[in-house]
Amino acid sequence: MKVQLYNTTKKLCVIGDPVLHSKSPLIQNTMLQALGLDYVYLCQKVPRGCAAEWLRCAAFSGYAGFNATMPHKEGLVPLMDELDEDARLYGAVNTVCIRDGKYYGFNTDGRGFLAALQAAGISPAGEKVLVLGAGGAAKAVAPKLCQAGEARSVFVANRTVEKAAALCAGALEGRMAPADFTPDTLCRLAEGCGLVVNCTNLGMEGTRGQFADFSFLEALPDGAAVCDVIYAPAETELLRRARERGLRTLNGLGMLIWQAVFALEHFTQTPVDGKAVLPLVEAALGEARLNP
Ligand code: NAP
Repeated sequence: MKVQLYNTTKKLCVIGDPVLHSKSPLIQNTMLQALGLDYVYLCQKVPRGCAAEWLRCAAFSGYAGFNATMPHKEGLVPLMDELDEDARLYGAVNTVCIRDGKYYGFNTDGRGFLAALQAAGISPAGEKVLVLGAGGAAKAVAPKLCQAGEARSVFVANRTVEKAAALCAGALEGRMAPADFTPDTLCRLAEGCGLVVNCTNLGMEGTRGQFADFSFLEALPDGAAVCDVIYAPAETELLRRARERGLRTLNGLGMLIWQAVFALEHFTQTPVDGKAVLPLVEAALGEARLNP
């Protein structure tokens, strides 16, 4: 996409390694252009272990802020002057604002996921929820479902059960419970469940991993919803099977866009009408997919 630059244009970026595949520059520049905000959003490779060095460079070069992806989300936490409640709760930062030489860390992933659920008409309130996985995505999704999402209970099932136990041991202990990832356990937990959220890599484009068994979908009650935080492919094998089973489905694109909307609000300290920019961002992503 074409971006208009002026001497006054403020700089933003996404850092990570790898980072070249990131959709954040396209999403953010589309929103900035639509809103007429004088910022440009770039893509910056920052190798593992170099976050502290990057922070000094970013402040020196006049960056207004940046988003962080793998492997920096957790390492940024102790480097911040201030953290918002979600960054503290998840132990991870995905958005940093730099103001007057100070670093303000936020995490918009959980809010982004809840906003995407809400936009799709799926409510976790009062439901038993099953979260699959205990990695970075699950660390934001599971507590947020419990906290602002008001889920009745959240079960976190993970291949490495110790990671699920660590995720459930925080402030929301009592409403979150860890579990293993065996087909039997997933089937048992799916009973009476209103919502399943896949936060593993299983089914993601470019990876070989796939669920060994989908029978937990049969154990879900009619009317349950199945969400995937994966957005490429648009319909994972899990979502395809859930749709064919007659369940409501949602992929990770909405979460990706809504977390960016909330990050942009932090960067610019300007309210962003997410519903208005959503179709523009979806169109830009669709076009980029057709013309890579
Ligand atoms: P991560 O921290 O590496 O966690 C990966 C998770 O997948 C872990 O729980 C891992 O289990 C599990 N897993 C991997 N291979 C598995 C297998 N063969 N069998 C069972 N479980 C397996 O990754 P992440 O950052 O959470 O990302 C996970 C997915 O979410 C990615 O596809 C990413 O693109 C997507 N995501 C989307 C958004 C969005 O905005 N839509 C945001 C963040 C992430 P172990 O703990 O046992 O290794």
